Amino acid sequence: MTTEYDVVVIGGGPGGYVAAIRASQLGLKVGLVEKERLGGICLNWGCIPTKALLRNAELAHILTKRAKEFGFAFDNLRLDYKAAVKRSRRVSDRLVKGVEFLMRKNKITVHRGTAKLLSPREVRVRDAEGRNTVLKAKNVIVATGARPRSIPGVEIDGQRVVSYRQAIVQEDLPTSAIVIGAGPIGVEFAYVWHNYGVQVTILEMLPHLLPLEDEEVSQELEKAFRREGLRFHTHARVERLTLTDDGVQVVVQQEGKTLTLTADQVLMAIGVRPNTEDLGLEEIGVQLDRGFIVIDEGMRTHVPGVYAIGDVTGKMPLAHVASAQGIVAAETIAGVETVVLDYEMMPRAVYCQPQVASFGLTEKQARERGYEIRVGKFPFQANGKALGLGESRGFVKIIADAKYGEILGAHLIGPEVTELLPELTLARAWELTPEEIARNVHAHPTLSETLMEAAHAWSGHAIHV
Ligand code: NAD
Repeated sequence: MTTEYDVVVIGGGPGGYVAAIRASQLGLKVGLVEKERLGGICLNWGCIPTKALLRNAELAHILTKRAKEFGFAFDNLRLDYKAAVKRSRRVSDRLVKGVEFLMRKNKITVHRGTAKLLSPREVRVRDAEGRNTVLKAKNVIVATGARPRSIPGVEIDGQRVVSYRQAIVQEDLPTSAIVIGAGPIGVEFAYVWHNYGVQVTILEMLPHLLPLEDEEVSQELEKAFRREGLRFHTHARVERLTLTDDGVQVVVQQEGKTLTLTADQVLMAIGVRPNTEDLGLEEIGVQLDRGFIVIDEGMRTHVPGVYAIGDVTGKMPLAHVASAQGIVAAETIAGVETVVLDYEMMPRAVYCQPQVASFGLTEKQARERGYEIRVGKFPFQANGKALGLGESRGFVKIIADAKYGEILGAHLIGPEVTELLPELTLARAWELTPEEIARNVHAHPTLSETLMEAAHAWSGHAIHV
């Protein structure tokens, strides 16, 4: 059987399904190939179900550690983690059904199976029963994502050594756990597990938790984690990992010292590697760089008609970046006006408590690049809404060119900061200066007033500090 399409998208994650919808909106005939569930890692095993678990963890934190402060008393409080996981699965299922609906609404044919490029114009789909279908395609968008990587020689067995993929669905928590890697996945799971009573230790080889964030933000997070009793070691490189009868032993080098740690389970959270094998990419001439597909700003690979978006491109493995790339790819194919993505200015968000949100250059990067900068900073401690919420840790930090006011980056840590960031990314995109943000009247009392105040602080006249 042969079917002909204008565009065949391989992979139904937040890159692929968004590209498919945009292509269909532009009048193209679109097929999408997916071997698992629509929605990819984001909807099924990543962004979405973790947000449900994190919400549970926040409530667990208040009930177990701050009940007295809020005036709650219990005789028999019991935390049911199984129920938390079940709730997160329901949230995930609901969104996946939403994507299935969107595929039908946009007349996108979903082919279930594993895709391989036979040529730049032919995609073979092998279904679960081993039957092959060849799809003819004027254009192909590769959006196959990435998977967890591990320390060389250490197998993720799904029992004692797990990745987010197993951790997100496991209903029974270990008594103790070692989290290797303090990127977003490491700190989010550590926060959830810690608040469900697991003795967690995070190991990070770089000097800080969330080491790519602005240093002040990492330090603030470390302060918060320390106060909550969440253990972590930085400058800690894992030397050896051994499975024992009842768990895992990890030997760590930390600034000349050797530490030996044991736990029931290890969560491997040291980054991802691209799913570019067995797709026929190299055979048809697609260029890879360390496994990632090389693309230009229109998401074109080196082979005409073949495009790539999302984690496989290694640009920035974030769902919203994949979706933005998907829209650009579809618009490039359709030949309509599109945008050039500035990856450095893409928003980043981490959802432990306090939350972390940022974009652009850190203070150190801005100085290293030779900018003369001015920093505007405002603490949540001086914000009425944050105090009312009982979440007054953290700050907003805006970095802008001292002379012209060009916003170079913003770094936020505190309550719901992931929701506050877009005002600043929009300001950057439309070349607003901190002075202009400061004059945008914000409703009182809101957390967003901290943005206005940080902008005032940049201009030298913060009102509430
Ligand atoms: P990551 O690359 O962001 O972080 C991995 C961390 O592990 C780094 O800090 C690194 O220094 C450390 N590390 C690497 N090898 C180590 C070793 N041997 N010992 C100790 N530490 C080691 O990866 P991640 O947290 O696994 O996330 C994967 C991807 O998914 C990332 O690109 C991330 O941005 C994305 N993601 C984002 C979110 C979010 O934005 N909320 C959530 C989950 C995942």
